[in-house]
Amino acid sequence: MAKRDYYEVLGVQKDASKDDIKKAYRKLAIQYHPDKNPGNKAAEEKFKEASEAYEVLSDDQKRPAYDQFGHAGVEGMGGGQDFSQAFRGFEDIFGGDLGGIFETFFGGHRGSGGGQRNSVRQGANLRYDIEIPFKDAVFGSKVEIQYSRNESCPTCKGSGAAGGTGKKVCPTCQGSGQVRHSQGFFSVASTCHSCGGEGYIIEHPCKDCGGSGAQKKRQKIMVTIPPGVEDGRRVVIRQQGDVGPNGGPAGDLYVFIRVKPHEYFERQGEDLYCAVPISVTQASLGADIQVPTLDGKTIKVKIPPGIQNGKLLRIRDEGVPSGGRRGCLYIKVIVQIPAKLSKRGRELMEELSKVEGEVDTPKPIPLSELAQ
Ligand SMILES: [Zn+2]
Ligand SMILES: [Zn+2]
Repeated sequence: MAKRDYYEVLGVQKDASKDDIKKAYRKLAIQYHPDKNPGNKAAEEKFKEASEAYEVLSDDQKRPAYDQFGHAGVEGMGGGQDFSQAFRGFEDIFGGDLGGIFETFFGGHRGSGGGQRNSVRQGANLRYDIEIPFKDAVFGSKVEIQYSRNESCPTCKGSGAAGGTGKKVCPTCQGSGQVRHSQGFFSVASTCHSCGGEGYIIEHPCKDCGGSGAQKKRQKIMVTIPPGVEDGRRVVIRQQGDVGPNGGPAGDLYVFIRVKPHEYFERQGEDLYCAVPISVTQASLGADIQVPTLDGKTIKVKIPPGIQNGKLLRIRDEGVPSGGRRGCLYIKVIVQIPAKLSKRGRELMEELSKVEGEVDTPKPIPLSELAQ
């Protein structure tokens, strides 16, 4: 079953504030919480769906990735697979009053307490846009692209610490990455400034990467464009995005494909279309004409006598490759009326007009017959 849109799941607008998202989620979580609906599978599903949506939309990294790329943008970022992550934020949401019920349901994965935070995260997904010729989109190709991404710093092997030294637990927050302040009745958590929320401090940062553990590098890779790719599609290359902080896995590279229009061919699904002019006499008498295909061949096409302007002629197996076979090529016949006639041509036309007994009171044609 296709996943529902996260905004729709929470019933909020695309531009909803963090606060609105939190409120909407809180309402659903209370309504569908398994402890309140024992044995009710549908409620449990709704609860999980809402939790997953909240996990993504409340996260400053995941929400933009979701907005831009949809569900695929947060795949592998923990979106929906790892509920323990989602429940980091629970204390924050329920202010502790409902804490107990979540603990039972999620087996105590609450991420609170003084333990060291696990700050190994997946790196950012990157986007690269390419424009490819129409023919390459139909038959497939390989394109070399060059782009910059964060790679693991070779000097410190991604740790951010200078040779031999290590990290120590942040003395300000004792590794939790958060500090609590009392404000009247409330206790408010905020990100620890000493360690930037990481929970540890690098005493001697690596000189080559300044302690980030990553370095921007340009890299070239070959992108395989599958045959039949359509304009606006994307190719995902796993793990070729930025490496994650602290040696986390790399994000993915999304290559978005634009297809340049062709001068003569157009495409509809697996079929190709091309317009070819013929003369009035060819249309009347019939003819064998040579037409180009997208492959660069020419093929013979039989024009039956009496063909009408705009008629489509179908040629099998000259369209877009798909699943081991190919679509059709449609030739649209454009009957060209001579704009200028030679003297002899004019005589013959006048003769033809007489012989065929043309009338000057034509009967209208029903528009429905002109549908093509
Ligand atoms: Zn700290
Ligand atoms: Zn380094």
